[in-house]
Amino acid sequence: MRRPVIAGNWKMHKFIADSVATALALKPLVANANHCEVIIAPVFTAIKSVADRLEGSNIKIAGQDCAPEKKHGAHTGEVAADMLRDAGASYVIVGHSERRQHYAETDTMINRKMHAAIAAGLIPILCIGETLAQREAGIAERVVRGQIEGGLRELTASDLEHIIIAYEPVWAIGTGRTATPEQAQQMHSFIRRVFAEKFDEEASRRLRILYGGSVRPDNIAGLMAQPDIDGALVGGASLEAETFARIVNYDR
Ligand code: 13P
Repeated sequence: MRRPVIAGNWKMHKFIADSVATALALKPLVANANHCEVIIAPVFTAIKSVADRLEGSNIKIAGQDCAPEKKHGAHTGEVAADMLRDAGASYVIVGHSERRQHYAETDTMINRKMHAAIAAGLIPILCIGETLAQREAGIAERVVRGQIEGGLRELTASDLEHIIIAYEPVWAIGTGRTATPEQAQQMHSFIRRVFAEKFDEEASRRLRILYGGSVRPDNIAGLMAQPDIDGALVGGASLEAETFARIVNYDR
């Protein structure tokens, strides 16, 4: 009943020409992927060109971040959520661990971005996940719970119907060290439980929780077979159209 989501996060890769070329190569390869939503997240500067070329296709566009402010104004360097929408995005990644780690984003800041994204009519993909040190210290669940509660603060019931969560354990990102399907399932089921307790039991059954961290064509099917894994947020393996298409078209 939960429609899977397979999203490619291109991070700070690809010029406009390469972004468009990859998107155009991907288009026919995933044209029959009716089993899931397919999303790509190009750099800001390429969003408009990619969106124009994908119009009418089943590939949707996400921004990789958005400003916490809802109103346009003097915020040098920021891109407002409704500007992403204006450029052709319908989703936005919020609170990616690289932004938490390297740009000091806090749950408070991320929560403001969630509100801004929803106000602009974008579907936010809230990223959460513990570091290796936190996992080894036995506090992974506590960290993840804090990120959910902080990130979703003061969202309404109807807002919560429109969000996606991506569980990305930091130790699995770009390391080739994927969480095992069982490890991921365990945390996904915990996330759904926290969401149900904190917010709404019914909505928790509809919440889509993606896994991210070294997802590849050879491990996607095992992850997707888990009951609480509803899709993937793919970094490195989304940069090349054929590889990403193999992930989208995983064995079902
Ligand atoms: P990798 O797939 O390269 O590990 O990156 C995951 C990620 O951070 C997606 O947002």
